[in-house]
Amino acid sequence: MSDPRSVQLAANLQAVRRRVAAACSAAGRRETDVTLVAVTKTFPAADVARLAALGVGDFGENRDQEARAKAAAVPAVRWHFVGRLQRNKCRSVVGYADAVHSVDRPELAELLAREAERAGRRLAVFVQVSLDPAGGGRPGERGGVAPAGLDALADLVAGSPALRLLGVMAVAPPGTDPDDAYARLAGLAERLRATHPGADRLSAGMSGDLEAAIRHGATHLRIGTALLGGRAAVLR
Ligand SMILES: *Cc1c(COP(=O)(O)O)cnc(C)c1O
Repeated sequence: MSDPRSVQLAANLQAVRRRVAAACSAAGRRETDVTLVAVTKTFPAADVARLAALGVGDFGENRDQEARAKAAAVPAVRWHFVGRLQRNKCRSVVGYADAVHSVDRPELAELLAREAERAGRRLAVFVQVSLDPAGGGRPGERGGVAPAGLDALADLVAGSPALRLLGVMAVAPPGTDPDDAYARLAGLAERLRATHPGADRLSAGMSGDLEAAIRHGATHLRIGTALLGGRAAVLR
């Protein structure tokens, strides 16, 4: 593992792990309760293999075609689908994903449940909630069910034997204070646990705001840029 890219990824990984450790320590939390999901979108499968060799076990992607190819190339890790999901991609995603973080409407929960059942699998699911002031859910935006719709969607997921409700996921709206956004998310997560005590995971935190996410209880960080470097802005 002495190629220059592996050396760079190792340094990035160490820096991220230090940030996670410092944030956990400041929050009085255990590092082992926080899973680092390396979001490898736009980067080659070779980078996935390099990070896997460095000990990363969880990878995230936001486009089915790209995810499917990388999951085929590097199968011995856990794959998380974190992007907006179209109904016609559900069967494909169920074929490689261990978890989907972006279930934000009943139709997706129903389709994923059907495909998981057909595949004889149990798929882990986060319900994505919108923290946008307007309530979210409009096509073309970041996605996420409006907070008022969270409970019904979570009930639907929890009631599907082929799905396992892990908890909630959100993306902090750009230009807002992530501490405010994740505090609201933590409140929604707590409300959900009142009816679904097992839904105790929280997918929150990206390269720029992982400390705030850890302060508010994140268990799954989705980290791209800080691990892999900048993406071409035109692509995403
Ligand atoms: C790209 C992406 C990330 C990673 O973002 P970075 O800022 O590069 O760490 C996290 N979550 C989702 C849903 C993404 O699409």
